[in-house]
Amino acid sequence: MIASREVLKGFFFSTLRNFGYLKSKLKKINTKNEVLILNLHKVSNEVNPYWPPLKINYFNDLISYLKKETELVTFQDLKFENLTKKPRVIISFDDGYRDFFDCAMPILKKYKISVNQNIIPEAIETGLAPWNIRMYDFLFNAPENLLKNFKVHGWDLNFKNLNEKEKSKFGLKLSIYLKNRSKKERERLLQNSMKWINEFKGTTYSQMMDRNQLLEVYDLHEIGLHSYSHESMQFESTEYFQQDLEKCWSYYFNLFQFDPDIYAFPNGSYREGQPEMAVEQGYKFVLLVGDRVAESHSSILNRVTHYGESSAEAVVRGVGYGISI
Ligand SMILES: [Zn+2]
Repeated sequence: MIASREVLKGFFFSTLRNFGYLKSKLKKINTKNEVLILNLHKVSNEVNPYWPPLKINYFNDLISYLKKETELVTFQDLKFENLTKKPRVIISFDDGYRDFFDCAMPILKKYKISVNQNIIPEAIETGLAPWNIRMYDFLFNAPENLLKNFKVHGWDLNFKNLNEKEKSKFGLKLSIYLKNRSKKERERLLQNSMKWINEFKGTTYSQMMDRNQLLEVYDLHEIGLHSYSHESMQFESTEYFQQDLEKCWSYYFNLFQFDPDIYAFPNGSYREGQPEMAVEQGYKFVLLVGDRVAESHSSILNRVTHYGESSAEAVVRGVGYGISI
């Protein structure tokens, strides 16, 4: 049953790719005023059903298509008028995973494309992935008898007999349950389970880029800040958020000797007034996540989450499938 649904889904996206859908979708983007910003995370052939990365060849196909049919630009380019007839697209990565350096950058180099990568200073300095990714890594690696002891307060966990698809949905639900909270509240809910995560030595954790890799990225791509330690800002105090903006600013300045331009809210989480606070702080491009194209002249820009379980799906979602344009 599941397999046939997968086949149908694959067929559906291949059909869209082959029958004029892509160009008709791109035509709807106003080349003067709008920009489609795709938000990506991991590009890797590693398997983790709790949070599947975009496979390397799907990423290659996405970039190859966009390079041909769109104007792939960076945030700095938005200052200039689009003189082409092609719609503008920005590729915007979050979190700063090591696979960006190892898997995505060689492809971007091949097509001579610059993208945006928003990093988490704490992750660069400690080498530790954000808490939810470490949790997924643990869930994927830990044996079932250990998972029985893994408790999240107020959440009725049941890992038994989950197939790959269900694991992916489960991971998403658990992440949403935990990330719509302040750091303090989340740590309270995870109090008991962190003990199991930390004591189990069999987890292969997702790697983050380090300072040296970051300096190499800086030469070719646009680096932004993705908060200092990846908290959901909607649930943090105004003082916490203000300090975060400042900490990010000095981290970037100390590393690159330039002021930063980009701040991307983690977990797409913010509350009214916070994006404007980031603009006041001096960030020229403040990035959110939603389901629409962005106004290219605005300082507060919307991004569209990108993913794909096949080459066709990666390309179809790369032109804004599922969003109203
Ligand atoms: Zn993130």
